[in-house]
Amino acid sequence: MSKRFIETLYKSYGQSFIVDEILFESKTEHQHLIIFNNDQFGRVMALDGVIQTTEKDEFIYHEMLTHVPLFAHGEANRVLIIGGGDGGILREVLRHPEVQHVTMVEIDQAVVDMCKKYFPKHSDGAFDDPRVNLVIDDGVDFIINNKEKFDVIISDSTDPEGPGEVLFSSRFYQGCKNSLTDGGILATQNGVSFMQIEEVQTTYNRFEGLFKDRWFYAAPVPTYVGGIMTLAWGTDDISLRQKSVEQIRERFSQANMKTRYYTPELHVASFALPQYVIDALN
Ligand code: SAM
Repeated sequence: MSKRFIETLYKSYGQSFIVDEILFESKTEHQHLIIFNNDQFGRVMALDGVIQTTEKDEFIYHEMLTHVPLFAHGEANRVLIIGGGDGGILREVLRHPEVQHVTMVEIDQAVVDMCKKYFPKHSDGAFDDPRVNLVIDDGVDFIINNKEKFDVIISDSTDPEGPGEVLFSSRFYQGCKNSLTDGGILATQNGVSFMQIEEVQTTYNRFEGLFKDRWFYAAPVPTYVGGIMTLAWGTDDISLRQKSVEQIRERFSQANMKTRYYTPELHVASFALPQYVIDALN
């Protein structure tokens, strides 16, 4: 009988993977980390029983969580990543020629080390880029004490349980707001809306009064099961979400970037939400 990994994110439902080989498994200082091979998705990483990333579908999530805020902003010189230990967001951020400095705050050194080893294409050398400052710290502690300003902040966190819970708190969002330049953008992973609609509602409520424009955009990631993933969007510049396809296309072509999921057309369309999500926000 083949060994299976069954995800424990939901009480009565869980996707399962045949584990061809366990490459690494350990209780780190912060969470249970497992990396295994699966025929369909390639290498797979889970933290505390929840799928975080796979070799095959990572590009959808990493491209959308990065390129939508960065192309919407257009002049993001300084970027902050919270979480993101596998290096996929860092890799995509560094593809933007306007980016001069990236601070990445990840709580778990073991995730960074093991992902460098077992998912080398996720970071693709990004941790060695001279523009990068990697800080091993709790994202909320960092943001509360932070005095620097960033044009874009991306929260690539685990779900709001365990160490990731604080990254969905009002305290964290307030710290992000204080750390943004005028017209800066906060983008965060915010769960799969069909399965985790309360997460969408909670974030929307917590963004109230913090950002003049609060919304979500969508990305369908196969191993974040249950339909579209909703990525939260907060900024005081209400024009950024309204950029036309032509404006985004011009920036995209100037960046001379080859993507596998992201396109300027998808960028604009991703802000269109299903009616059940809109209803949940009202
Ligand atoms: N894309 C995944 C998803 O949506 O499920 C998450 C990717 S994984 C890289 C998330 C990272 O957030 C992990 O490396 C984890 O260690 C980190 N993390 C969790 N809580 C954190 C905290 N409080 N501060 C900083 N990083 C944290």
